[in-house]
Formats: sequence, structure tokens, C-alpha cells
Amino acid sequence: MEEKTTQEKRTCRCPYCDAEVECIEELSAVCGPCSITIVTCEKCGGNMRQDAEVCPECGERH
Ligand SMILES: [Zn+2]
Ligand SMILES: [Zn+2]
Repeated sequence: MEEKTTQEKRTCRCPYCDAEVECIEELSAVCGPCSITIVTCEKCGGNMRQDAEVCPECGERH
């Protein structure tokens, strides 16, 4: 038996509660426990919440 992997599941880790969340699109994921949307920082590639003004990883303003 062969498993078909038509869509690769990607997960990332919420930087605020450390829960593993499944990426919905390439650059966004929703953390259930925090009820936030996580996006990837363009500067450092780290995870940050969508409505955050400053990236928790590199301090870059968005
Ligand atoms: Zn979280
Ligand atoms: Zn950053």
C-alpha cells in the first residue's frame, strides 16, 4: 500500500504558547489556544502573530 501525499502538511510552532499549529497557507497558520494568526517574519523568517507590531524574534517593525 502506498500513501498518496498530494498536499504536504506543514506545521510551525506558536512563538507565544509553543503549541504546534498546522499551516493553512504558505505563510500563515492559526493557533487555537491563542486564537491568533501566525505569520512568518519577512526579516528573520521567525513566527510572529499577524497583528503584532514588532517581531518577537528580531524586533523588526511590521
Ligand atoms: Zn499559541
Ligand atoms: Zn523577525
